Amino acid sequence: MFGIDVRVHPTFLILLGWVGLTHVATGAGWVAVLGELGFLLLLFGIVVLHELGHALAARRYGIRTRDITLLPFGGIARLERIPEEPGKELVIALAGPAVNVALAAGLLGVLLLASGVGALATPSLFDGELLARLFWVNVWLAGFNMIPAFPMDGGRVLRALLAFGGDYLQATRVAAGIGQGVALLFGLAGLLLPNPFLLFIALFVWIGAAQEGGAAAVRATLGGVPVGRVMVRKLRSVAPTDPLSRVVEAMMDGFQQDFPVVEGGRVVGMLDRIELMRALKQHGDRITVAEVVQPEFPTAHPNEPVEAVMGRLADAGRQSLPVVRHGELVGLLTADNLVEFLSIRNALRDWRATRDGDRVWSPWSRDGQAGRRGTLPADPVGGTR
Ligand SMILES: [Zn+2]
Repeated sequence: MFGIDVRVHPTFLILLGWVGLTHVATGAGWVAVLGELGFLLLLFGIVVLHELGHALAARRYGIRTRDITLLPFGGIARLERIPEEPGKELVIALAGPAVNVALAAGLLGVLLLASGVGALATPSLFDGELLARLFWVNVWLAGFNMIPAFPMDGGRVLRALLAFGGDYLQATRVAAGIGQGVALLFGLAGLLLPNPFLLFIALFVWIGAAQEGGAAAVRATLGGVPVGRVMVRKLRSVAPTDPLSRVVEAMMDGFQQDFPVVEGGRVVGMLDRIELMRALKQHGDRITVAEVVQPEFPTAHPNEPVEAVMGRLADAGRQSLPVVRHGELVGLLTADNLVEFLSIRNALRDWRATRDGDRVWSPWSRDGQAGRRGTLPADPVGGTR
């Protein structure tokens, strides 16, 4: 839609199956079951419109949307980046719930004209007239998404409002902290009522808030750092005419797992560990690199900011990118090295803070995402829900 891929996650089918089966189990006829499934599809159609609201608002600022994915618990619009200008983030975050408010207003008008106030007597998603149920769906989606906690839109609205004061990272920390406070309240309510659905939401919000805080800290740490500063410089490359056995030797010799393919001084491909294993499994180790290497591969420039390249790394589903200047190989940007760089920076920052006596406790500054070996946030930009 509007040039944006809309995908449905396979687990969505489980939800359809579950809703269908629970209605069959209550003894409902086939017509009623199909009706409920149809309602579920309409509900997720509204979720898609909500996500399109975010995507089209982002497009106004020249930010593209990689795709919109429907999951059983909602939709995610994966924006290329989240703008760090609070005004823009505010508009993008509000655009989704605004779609629901507009739809609710339209449905309310139709309902009042058609059947008066009586149509709204039962505020339920599960009972009553179809249009009334769709009205309540939109009210619920707008309200639920405005809860001031990541990963909900309300969390982004809160962060944007706090960031008008100046410090973006500090605003994210406060917003993430409030988000985790809200998650605790949900968790407590879920235990006391008891309501497993609330517990699930509490977990979802808690993880979302922690991730957003971690991703913002990573972005702040990497802010403005060029690729050339964090790339691996000592590396081996392979030639298109090399047999795969030569690549295997190179891999066993050292720590390198992904190999740029170089011919006549120019980078012509990239053979990573996964592709190598697949090729070995299918063809053995006698065939040449040229026969298995993909002709298209993403690269990075040494002067590019690292934040810009991390999205490319995640999109390509790779662990490393060749760093190329004028077609010539100058280094390799690897996820491992990025994690190393983040750990070193954080360690030095903690040392300075201790020395200067202004230690600030934060759940993700110490042994959070950047501390563990080999774990980089898979998608540093994250999605908008
Ligand atoms: Zn949203």
